[in-house]
Amino acid sequence: MAKKFFRCTVCGDVHWGVNAPEKCPTCMQLNKYVEVDADEAKKLLFENASADPMPKQEFRAAIEKYCDNNAFALNPEKVHVDRVVDGVYANLEKKGLKYCPCRISASAAKLDSSLLCPCNFEAQGIWRTEGRCWCGLFIKRS
Ligand code: SF4
Ligand SMILES: [Zn+2]
Repeated sequence: MAKKFFRCTVCGDVHWGVNAPEKCPTCMQLNKYVEVDADEAKKLLFENASADPMPKQEFRAAIEKYCDNNAFALNPEKVHVDRVVDGVYANLEKKGLKYCPCRISASAAKLDSSLLCPCNFEAQGIWRTEGRCWCGLFIKRS
């Protein structure tokens, strides 16, 4: 299914997906998204987005918050988390995006959103068998 861009006509939030969200996660208004072209979406995103990548500490805080109300947590071994996050940031430097450090992207030039960290690790076989993402950054809560 092809993904498209949508813009919230109330707050300007940009969404990329097969369908627009019913409720805008930014302004909470209902049924306010309209489909827009990629050019408009990119201009809105780049105008509002910082050109600087998120500092490592902010990334760590974001992935920690991502664990809230979910059935997973960050690996309690801080040294391991540090190593994985360093790998993510090495990829950011080399490939321009925060790619998974333990899986190889098919093409560094082509955006592969399935390999961005955090990925959809709950769909991985290793999650079901071992209760962790490929890199062990996230683990299943017991
Ligand atoms: S496997 Fe783990 S470290 Fe790799 S992208 Fe997914 S969540 Fe990040
Ligand atoms: Zn909105």
